Amino acid sequence: MIYLDNAATSAFKPEGVITGVTEYLKHPGNPERGCHAASLNAAGLVLDTRMKLADFFGMEDCSRVIFTGGLTESLNMVINGLFSENDHVITTIYEHNSVLRPLYRIGCEMTVCSVPGEMEAEVRKNTRAVIMNHVSNVTGQVQDIAAAGKICRKYGLLLIVDAGQSAGHVPLSMKDMGIDILCFSGHKGLMGMQGIGGICIRTDENIRSIKAGGTGFDSFSRVQPEEYPYRLEAGTLNVPGIVSLYHGIDFINEYTIENIAMHERKLRQRCLQQLEGIEGVEIYYGINCAAAADINVDLHSGISENIGIISFNIKGMDAGYIADQLSYRYDIAVRSGAHCAPLIHEYYGIGSSVRISFGLNNTEGDVDSFIEALKQVIG
Ligand code: PMP
Repeated sequence: MIYLDNAATSAFKPEGVITGVTEYLKHPGNPERGCHAASLNAAGLVLDTRMKLADFFGMEDCSRVIFTGGLTESLNMVINGLFSENDHVITTIYEHNSVLRPLYRIGCEMTVCSVPGEMEAEVRKNTRAVIMNHVSNVTGQVQDIAAAGKICRKYGLLLIVDAGQSAGHVPLSMKDMGIDILCFSGHKGLMGMQGIGGICIRTDENIRSIKAGGTGFDSFSRVQPEEYPYRLEAGTLNVPGIVSLYHGIDFINEYTIENIAMHERKLRQRCLQQLEGIEGVEIYYGINCAAAADINVDLHSGISENIGIISFNIKGMDAGYIADQLSYRYDIAVRSGAHCAPLIHEYYGIGSSVRISFGLNNTEGDVDSFIEALKQVIG
């Protein structure tokens, strides 16, 4: 199979992740629930992973790295734990339903912007936060988080970032970008397992806990401990998932994020060069984006660049049909649909698109095979 669906879940898992999780499963323990070696070992792995993540995301206090069951859970915990219907939040046209649906459900006031440049004019008396993704899961566009960070500092707003498609793909520092709360997923760019994600908190704001339960201490207290991480973590953690993150981060640090980004962007550029020549193709680059990826960009500027995600349609053809044909006839895995991101599809006036997304598992040969297969499907 040629797997071009890394934005859904990454196919490349480093050897360290696989052996690390396997080893842990041979000697499991419940962290902070005992004083025997297995429990202490699990607790050590959890703490070390918190420290690695804090360092990786540019934050100081690792006790404010919260483990969750995934990115959707992280975003739900943050949004439900901070906002009520009287609040106003600013968000963007690129957001995933894991941001939009919790906000719709609360019924708070929302303003949807296309770019951070539009945000300042939208700040109201009851505006509490800007919530935005760092990279769109449809266009692959890297948003100017630092610009949003400056607006948030100026008006005392929280900056909450969905790093689902950026963590492990582009450099990301909460401190440098002014991010207060960052939500991440373990099974995408961080190369770990499904069922693990997290929240990194760099604000004194107390997120209301929506879960309560065992913490391994203070068992006679009727209330959940106030302090992080226990405030938001109740019950046994997903230690195998946490161990997968431990080794995923190690791999990324060694390989370097710049090399990962460069690899994915090179594939993106090779693909675009060929895709742009296909008759009837419509490519969704994102707002204020150049037509072709410039791989010589400064990776730290983070503005109007795209990572290795491309979404497109072929005039007169159904996106689902293209994805089905690529799979059944050529064993090429791509995704079709609205990718849980309705607003950017509405912006382009489309109901669905075909998405391809590259990872370290892909080669230039994969790109060429995909283009060849696509031409035959269209033909
Ligand atoms: N946000 C973005 C930008 C995403 O791409 C995704 C996954 N498609 C999510 C949130 C939700 O992630 P998960 O399904 O892993 O909870």
